[in-house]
Amino acid sequence: MASLSDLPIRDDLRGLTPYGAPQKHVRYALNVNENTHPIPEAVARDIVTSLAHAVLTANRYPDREFTALRESLADYLGHGLTREHVWAANGSNEIIQQLLQAFGGPGRRVLGFPPTYSMHPIITAGVGSTWVTAERDADFEIDPETAVRAIERHTPDLVFLCAPNNPTGTGLSLETIAAAYDATDGIVFVDEAYAEFMPKDRPTALTLLPGRERLVVSRTMSKAFAFAGVRVGYLAADPVIADALRLVRLPYHLSALTQAAAVAALAHTPEMLAMVDDIIGQRDRIIAELPELGYRPWASEANFVLFDGVDDPQATFNALLERDILIRDVGIPNALRVTAGTAAETEFFLRSLAELGPGGAR
Ligand SMILES: *Cc1c(COP(=O)(O)O)cnc(C)c1O
Repeated sequence: MASLSDLPIRDDLRGLTPYGAPQKHVRYALNVNENTHPIPEAVARDIVTSLAHAVLTANRYPDREFTALRESLADYLGHGLTREHVWAANGSNEIIQQLLQAFGGPGRRVLGFPPTYSMHPIITAGVGSTWVTAERDADFEIDPETAVRAIERHTPDLVFLCAPNNPTGTGLSLETIAAAYDATDGIVFVDEAYAEFMPKDRPTALTLLPGRERLVVSRTMSKAFAFAGVRVGYLAADPVIADALRLVRLPYHLSALTQAAAVAALAHTPEMLAMVDDIIGQRDRIIAELPELGYRPWASEANFVLFDGVDDPQATFNALLERDILIRDVGIPNALRVTAGTAAETEFFLRSLAELGPGGAR
């Protein structure tokens, strides 16, 4: 078998590593922040009925403008948004890729604030842009002045903010987003993959959209909506952003089946989101109980918790894996990240961690 270095691959891709969260079959999969509750059966039946209809006309290309889906997504988002403000793709990862194809590309710079979503630098590299970074403040916060200073120093073409931030769970204030917008002529991208898990009094960046045509807010159906396997992400922005993305997207990028499934699921929004409050409860329970086990959890506005005080993250990761629990080592020293699952999953995780003793496995 040949190796990558035998191929005439792009020079800037040499030596890079792909996204690689372990995909293992375990009883307790708490590593990639999925919604661990399955789709309710009544909703699943409705989705299948829609898929059956869509299959009957699958000899034709799908609606290239996925009009019905954008309409449903705009209704779901509210905030006075209409379908013209919405664009969708196969996961918010593809949204990010299209955004970078249109506004990034070779020679352009993307500013991020690590530790943040691992796909942001990977998709940036994929389009030949340069990922530049700036430090966060204490407890992974980003103050408005910190964001502005970083933008003035790096003069990026795009600023990537993640709110709440993955893998830390940290919330982000609208003041920081607005200050970042005013400090750049570039695109300000706010990844709100976990918006549904935010505290009710935390406003979304959607409220900042009017009058800010360079602001883009992305969401996904992968997390709160329990739809990770279907691949539906979307953005809200000034309608002119969609015009830019039409230049780079592949025609018919959203299959008729994806569109049908997503529209059917959105018609059942209350049932699909019924578990969100439950998950928030489990997240808060993890945050409340970890200190009793000798760990320091960070505040989280998402469906996962990052916690400090792990003597040897890899050893604890492996010891939990032996108990059929998969969590995430995100490369932060002495820290691990766990997804809030069902009550039973959370209970088993906390009990297993307790059995490892203070500091975890060594
Ligand atoms: C999980 C996650 C996504 C979701 O990506 P999809 O492609 O929509 O599944 C996007 N952004 C962040 C920060 C995430 O953690």
